[in-house]
Amino acid sequence: MKYRIDNIKISPSNDDIELYLKNKYKIDDFNYKILLKSIDARDKNNVFYLYNVMLECNEKILGKNVSEYVEKSVELDYPKYSFSDRPVVVGFGPSGMFSGLYLARCGAKPIIIERGSRVEERKKKVEDFLKNKVLCDNSNVQFGEGGAGTFSDGKLTTNVKDKLIGFILYEFYKHGARENILYESHPHIGTDYLEIIVKSIREEIISLGGEFYFDTLFMDYSRDKVLCKKLIDDSIIEFKSNHVLLGIGHSAKDTIRHLYDNMHINIEPKAFSMGVRIEHKREDINKAQYGKFSKYLPSAYYKLACHNDRGIYTFCMCPGGFVLASTSDNNSIVTNGMSNNDRMGDNSNSALLVDVRVDDYYKSSPLDGIDYQEKYEKLAYSISKDYKAPANLVKEFLEDKIAKEERSIKTSYPHGLTFCDLSKVLPNYVISGLKFGIVEFDKKLKGFNNPDAIIIGVESRSSSPVRILRGENRCSSIEGIYPIGEGAGYAGGITSSALDGLKTAIEIVNKSNE
Ligand SMILES: Cc1cc2nc3c(=O)[nH]c(=O)nc-3n(C[C@H](O)[C@H](O)[C@H](O)COP(=O)(O)OP(=O)(O)OC[C@H]3O[C@@H](n4cnc5c(N)ncnc54)[C@H](O)[C@@H]3O)c2cc1C
Repeated sequence: MKYRIDNIKISPSNDDIELYLKNKYKIDDFNYKILLKSIDARDKNNVFYLYNVMLECNEKILGKNVSEYVEKSVELDYPKYSFSDRPVVVGFGPSGMFSGLYLARCGAKPIIIERGSRVEERKKKVEDFLKNKVLCDNSNVQFGEGGAGTFSDGKLTTNVKDKLIGFILYEFYKHGARENILYESHPHIGTDYLEIIVKSIREEIISLGGEFYFDTLFMDYSRDKVLCKKLIDDSIIEFKSNHVLLGIGHSAKDTIRHLYDNMHINIEPKAFSMGVRIEHKREDINKAQYGKFSKYLPSAYYKLACHNDRGIYTFCMCPGGFVLASTSDNNSIVTNGMSNNDRMGDNSNSALLVDVRVDDYYKSSPLDGIDYQEKYEKLAYSISKDYKAPANLVKEFLEDKIAKEERSIKTSYPHGLTFCDLSKVLPNYVISGLKFGIVEFDKKLKGFNNPDAIIIGVESRSSSPVRILRGENRCSSIEGIYPIGEGAGYAGGITSSALDGLKTAIEIVNKSNE
């Protein structure tokens, strides 16, 4: 008999669910599966793990949290792709990976176009930038196989509720992620595992007849002709397809500009956010979240939000992570964060963001938000005329002063910092929002306004400043072009981008069978 048992509380100092089940139900011969594991830290004097499990045994199990277990399948059907053309997937980030994988399993033999290199080579180019400040235009933290989230914390949490999310998590697991992503309430992969997963998904697509063109830039689409440029020798290659899934991410500004200026695709401006990264000591955040239990628990996560006249919030928190130099443009600075799977770096960091509204930047074009982002990224670079990021410490920032040097917290940012007046690199409403937020967040997470905490600018690419409009069939105003993922403005983050790509692929395959 299979049972579902909910709300099992286990002390972090004694975290052994198998032993718990054995002792509690006096059983020796049983199977179990963890369905959900979360940490309840609302009361710092009584922090505990909360489990939901499936228990299979011959004994009769009774209790108020016990019910019959109903298996939920995460498997999908793969109807045959019945159009005569091969679909072209542009960009191999999460949206391209999951649409490509689904199309391949439906027998569509997709052609994948990716401006960056395959992940093994891309990694070397990213390391060259982080160590030597040599930026490769097409293989960097934003571009290249795996997309923007490859060098990340690999957080898989999303606000979107959809039954396909179980499928996405299961595929990440099947392709190399650790099993705990299937049941943890805040699953994350870690950059050290992401590379393996990306390669494994590529290999499955190839094994099903898919074809990859790396270092190849999507240039144009007209009627059924997809024009691409091989970046090695600038030669042009052409594919015929009526189904082009455009998963180019929000940093492909050149492609977005071409789509709007020359191809006249319908785009609308979109609100986004800007701000900084904030770094604290990992231990301090752990203690603030878990009190005396912190020594038994993994590095702590937080998510905070408040309002003055705008929304202010933390985003993409990386426990035990590193602040990453994440630009895809020469002479500009963009921050973001990443962590390894163990999340054991000295610091924990998070984006600290303030809402940017369309009327903050709109002049005449839906692409004005891209120019606005670029302006502040370039200003950030102009402070040092190097990749040393503009920064301040919290105490001085709140007092309108400029810190001279780091104190008890040492930055993880790879290119070093230039302490400066951050109002030179961010709009005033962002600066006042950040000040308000830091003070407010300290009321919720003690030590958030640690005087030595480091704030580093600019965090400008947390979401897309444009949305490429699409109809009910998920097609854009240009027949044959299906914008997917974050760059299209319909997703934000790894899981929601993967979901968006997957849903479009399902729609196209279904249409092929109508
Ligand atoms: C450092 C960092 C850390 C992050 N951490 C997290 C996290 O922990 N959790 C989370 O949920 N999200 C995180 N994100 C955000 C997440 O990575 C993105 O939301 C997600 O990758 C978007 O997926 P996508 O497929 O829409 O686009 P992308 O991942 O941006 O992929 C787009 C791909 O298209 C390619 N491309 C662009 N233009 C062209 C062209 N013209 N021709 C051919 N190819 C092209 C690019 O090279 C790129 O590979 C992070 C982002 C960064 C940069």
